[in-house]
Amino acid sequence: GRKFFVGGNWKCNGTTEQVKKIVGTLNEAKVPGEDIVEVVVSPPFVFLSFVKALLRSDFHVAAQNCWVHKGGAYTGEVSAEMLVNLDIPWVILGHSERRALLKESSEFVADKVAYALSQNLKVIACIGETLEQREAGTTLAVVSEQTKAIAAKISNWDNVVLAYEPVWAIGTGKVATPAQAQEVHADLRKWIHDNVSAEVASTVRIIYGGSVNGANSKELAGQADVDGFLVGGASLKPEFIDIINAAT
Ligand code: 13P
Repeated sequence: GRKFFVGGNWKCNGTTEQVKKIVGTLNEAKVPGEDIVEVVVSPPFVFLSFVKALLRSDFHVAAQNCWVHKGGAYTGEVSAEMLVNLDIPWVILGHSERRALLKESSEFVADKVAYALSQNLKVIACIGETLEQREAGTTLAVVSEQTKAIAAKISNWDNVVLAYEPVWAIGTGKVATPAQAQEVHADLRKWIHDNVSAEVASTVRIIYGGSVNGANSKELAGQADVDGFLVGGASLKPEFIDIINAAT
């Protein structure tokens, strides 16, 4: 089976004091073991080492981005090698905020995914359609195109988690219904089955993101093809623990 995965994407939020408080709450939380649910929190770069040092050992950390190739003269960037050097096991790539605001293309995201994997990082690769695209009926076309760009550049999916995050659901309070999430996850898994392999389709985790909270996580988690969550706003709050507990 696919182990349930819950990621907390803190985005560009937090002060040292807030970070201490959030980690303190996580460290005291009663949650299922690592054999049941994999928990990864993703603070901004500047807090990564701090969080890693404070955080309970059964939870892990992720960076929110990294440079597309080997480090060098790229002012303001952080390389995959640096994350590896600091023992940061995970990186989120292709988040819709970066696709939209920083103009990251599917090609560029796919190059990042391939390079991060080559350095032995584990990758949470984000995909998802806008409201206009959904209303135009192109959801599957959009997410399969984003996935296809990645599939063209990698051969081993063992260290990839796919995060389906419909843009219209991110930070809006408009969570996808369990049926909407399940439909896209199942379509995507079928696309992977037909275009990558049956093996990858059955093993790759497809997690949902977009206005997940303590109250709606349980029913979403019950969908056959929803293998976990990528949580934004609620990952900064104690209800993140309820979301982790939705795994069981
Ligand atoms: P929200 O949970 O705040 O909607 O954000 C989702 C997200 O973008 C996680 O990466």
